[in-house]
Amino acid sequence: MSDKLYLSYRQIHRTVKSIAHQIETDGFDPDIIVAIGTGGFIPARILKTFIDRPILTVGIRAYDENNRLTERPQKIQWIDEVEKKLTGQKILLVDEVDDTRTTLEYCLNELYSHRPAETAVAVLHRKRKEKRGVIPDFVKRSFVGMEVDDVWIAYPWDALDIDAHCDIADARDKLAREESGGSTTILIRGFFVGMITS
Ligand code: 5GP
Repeated sequence: MSDKLYLSYRQIHRTVKSIAHQIETDGFDPDIIVAIGTGGFIPARILKTFIDRPILTVGIRAYDENNRLTERPQKIQWIDEVEKKLTGQKILLVDEVDDTRTTLEYCLNELYSHRPAETAVAVLHRKRKEKRGVIPDFVKRSFVGMEVDDVWIAYPWDALDIDAHCDIADARDKLAREESGGSTTILIRGFFVGMITS
């Protein structure tokens, strides 16, 4: 039995829009979006709707074949053939969640080795927990859609039954909005008023 935070595509889209708004307000104008696969692929694509920049992708594995967190992230796919394109560019690295932070630390340092002009990072969700990794000092801008407690986030792209998944997510969203008057910050707290078990 486990507690989970179920999210629908609609909620994800809203969160990405709020990140795009933060980026615009901050005055950051990236040249390239780098999406960490596979969780960062769909958020990066939605972000492109608001900030229309080319997307490069990298593949990182954080969990082993037994679903255990590995000591260090492993590259599954990297942007070797286009890495020269990163030199002198302003990069926005995108992933779905900052959990232990090891993946972000690893990717940010790898990207930095290609000598970009600037490297910023955006995540949909940042879990409130002690982190194993650090955001390197050269990263001056971090954009976070939502801070959430340390529970497993069930993203819609992992759903085997998307209708059941979104029914749960929508019901929780509606309840939280009624309780909070629509505030997204309290939305997450609202979720924890009740627990979803599976
Ligand atoms: P890290 O621990 O390095 O911050 O995150 C590694 C990866 O684990 C993330 O990119 C993400 O793919 C996966 N992950 C961590 N927490 C969650 C979660 O709550 N839900 C899902 N679906 N994936 C997660």
